[in-house]
Amino acid sequence: MRRTQTRVALLALSALVGSVLVATAPAGAVPAGATAAAGSERSPLENAEQVRLVRIKLTGADMLDKVVAAGFDLEHGLKRVPTGIEGEAVVTAEQLAELEALGVEVLGDSEGFTWSDQADGGLRASAARSAQAVQPANHEATVRVVRADWFTTKGQGFLYVEARTTEGQQSDPVVTMQLENDSGKGTAFGFPRTMSRFVDSGQYMFHRNLFKLDARPDQIRVTSSTGGVTTGYVSDWLENAPPPLTANPKYKWDFVDGYKHPQQLYSRAEEIARQYPDIAEIIYLPNKTNGYQRKAQATIGGTGQSAVVVSSAAWGHEGGNDITVEFVDRPGANLPLTVEVAGKAIRVLLAKDAAGALASTAAQVASALETRSQGLIDRAHPYRTNAGTGIVAATSGPVALTDFLDQKRVGAPEGDVPRGPATIPVLRIGKHRDGRNPGVLIQAQDHAREWVPAATSLEAAERLVHNYTSDQETKKIVNNTDVFFILSNNPDGANYSFFNFASQRKNMTNHCPDDNADPGRRDSWGVDLNRNYRVGSGHDGYAGGSTSCTSGTYQGPEELSEPESKNIIWLVEKYSNIKFMMSVHSNGGQLFWQPGAYIADGRITTPRPPLGDEAFYWQSASRILSQVKAHRQTVVTPENVGGSSDVLYSSAGNVREDLYYTYGIYAFGWEVGGSVYNPATGNWQGGSFQPPWEGTPDLVSGHSETMEYANGIMEMFRVAADWGKDKKKPTSNLVPGGGKYSGPVDVRFETSEPATIYYTTDGSRPTMESPRYEATEFREPGQVFHVTETTTFRWFSVDAAGNVEKGYDPTDDSKRNNYRTATITIKR
Ligand SMILES: [Zn+2]
Repeated sequence: MRRTQTRVALLALSALVGSVLVATAPAGAVPAGATAAAGSERSPLENAEQVRLVRIKLTGADMLDKVVAAGFDLEHGLKRVPTGIEGEAVVTAEQLAELEALGVEVLGDSEGFTWSDQADGGLRASAARSAQAVQPANHEATVRVVRADWFTTKGQGFLYVEARTTEGQQSDPVVTMQLENDSGKGTAFGFPRTMSRFVDSGQYMFHRNLFKLDARPDQIRVTSSTGGVTTGYVSDWLENAPPPLTANPKYKWDFVDGYKHPQQLYSRAEEIARQYPDIAEIIYLPNKTNGYQRKAQATIGGTGQSAVVVSSAAWGHEGGNDITVEFVDRPGANLPLTVEVAGKAIRVLLAKDAAGALASTAAQVASALETRSQGLIDRAHPYRTNAGTGIVAATSGPVALTDFLDQKRVGAPEGDVPRGPATIPVLRIGKHRDGRNPGVLIQAQDHAREWVPAATSLEAAERLVHNYTSDQETKKIVNNTDVFFILSNNPDGANYSFFNFASQRKNMTNHCPDDNADPGRRDSWGVDLNRNYRVGSGHDGYAGGSTSCTSGTYQGPEELSEPESKNIIWLVEKYSNIKFMMSVHSNGGQLFWQPGAYIADGRITTPRPPLGDEAFYWQSASRILSQVKAHRQTVVTPENVGGSSDVLYSSAGNVREDLYYTYGIYAFGWEVGGSVYNPATGNWQGGSFQPPWEGTPDLVSGHSETMEYANGIMEMFRVAADWGKDKKKPTSNLVPGGGKYSGPVDVRFETSEPATIYYTTDGSRPTMESPRYEATEFREPGQVFHVTETTTFRWFSVDAAGNVEKGYDPTDDSKRNNYRTATITIKR
């Protein structure tokens, strides 16, 4: 019986998803047969504004900054193309006009769209310019290769290159860069193509491009229009990955059979804790959400200046929905404005003038309702920015107030969707849950409409408990880590996304003042939970969070204003063994870390992680994404990996910045379900928030995304387990080493593993306060020192797990001389 119901619900959900994708406007307008009390009437003002999911194109990062600053949430599914940036936006007609006014090109409605094929740069025509600009090698320092990566997917090879020129900021004329590659070791350079200049917030970042290639090059050559030229070797990206855990025929996987709403996620989490008490338990987060609930409302009396917006004092489900309001036109003249209340029925007897005409303004009626409704109405005001000077009309009968949560979507759980504040359970899995093992926090669905991240996280939890006794690798994970799953961190918004308005992103808290508090705005209320944190926040002037309560990226009235974000801080403070975190979002095919926010003026980012952390992030990312690829060849491209503000843009007040900078937690942000390569068309095909669950398994499919990204989560656990077991001290070297040189010499440090070096050149003992060895520039290898005089370097290195080279400890007499030293002697 129960089983049958579940199946029906799942089928229905797929149908819902389909309709969202095709119709694109699951507006909250009251559907037929779902209105409240009989005899009520509805003002057209109460229809929630229709939204469309549209494909848009921006000319570049500068325009992206402006659009984001205007409060649009575009962070998901952005894709750079040679002529700009493409993406999708969820917008009302009003917002669409605003976008167009900003110069954004609207490409059409989005329906699991196909990215234009720019893999070969579309720039074959520029080959004529070829390599004539090549200059002697003494210009080499003006051009540097940042990265050159080769990867294959579904039989097709790709080369991704980032290169930087010291003249990149120059805009008149703009510096152009040409890329050439060979066709394997010892072959000639050729195939010149122009690279795209990447400018963000007015600052030159680097040039970059993704090119389709049939053979793996050994080297590339980059030439700038100002005369610089350099060569670089090509590295592999996610090639030759070890087989995933799922390759073992005895390994159990594929547990999640469809999208799950919060009640299903939470009850399964509780069931897992009951079924596997030896390795699992539930922790209930202390702050209840503000609730899947609303005040009951109506907009009555006319339009514009004559409209009155009425909100109940009680929540809709706690009596607000039982209230009716009637504006009554009595016979007679010279009558005062009066309010009568009988039970939950409010009658406003409108004033009449000497001639017997209606004479109450919207402002007067609103004020009367607030003060004379015997507490039933606690908020009544004119519509939007109107002063309420218009005379209100009588209603044709009582108008029932409603919270607009009465539309039971097909697929709703048995009974009603629970109203009111929710308690969020954390599913904790680990053999030793006493703080001895590194903790990993998996936090899914901060954004309500992102259904795949919740399914992915549940799949990972199921794999842990089902394989614990039968699979050695899983046993190692469970024995050596302490995992905390928040399967949905936004249950109120998620319920709204499942049952009312599929495109909901934020939570359900309405912080809007009167001018945006009418029910027509209800699909725009809420706080963007991933803008509500304290480090690099919009409240501190960082870019990418909005102060507008109706914006998709509304940051909230203050930092940590929302219970959902307070809970995360509570959790990592109480369980201080949490050293890793993955904030799981969709859809973009990206893996991010710090820096993730900047102050736009001057593009000042949050502090750049030390080189050791950065290298550890890259190493971990490559492990995680290799396991994603192992499922169906999905490649998250290197241009979508790194500090999020280095490769995409600023998101102020995101959770990752807070956890990394406040608590030293390695905090990743993941956009699952990005575009995948379609060999049949030769194009990359974009993902979506709620792809059909089965869909096309090789291309767009919630099921496939869930399985492949669950592979990646399992690998993140292995990264954490290895980190916890890492007692190996790093080693490092100055290259070339100390010795006698006949002239100036360039030296740099190398480490045996991701590690940060602290060094001195002034004869003092190095400490953690000494200068840190940094990257040449972000996303580049370590800096090069040009040594012109005899210099002694003193240094030590520290790895990502905190192991110090040679056990050096400046405060311990027996270890205070264990630092490294090398003298470069320059003889003239
Ligand atoms: Zn998101």
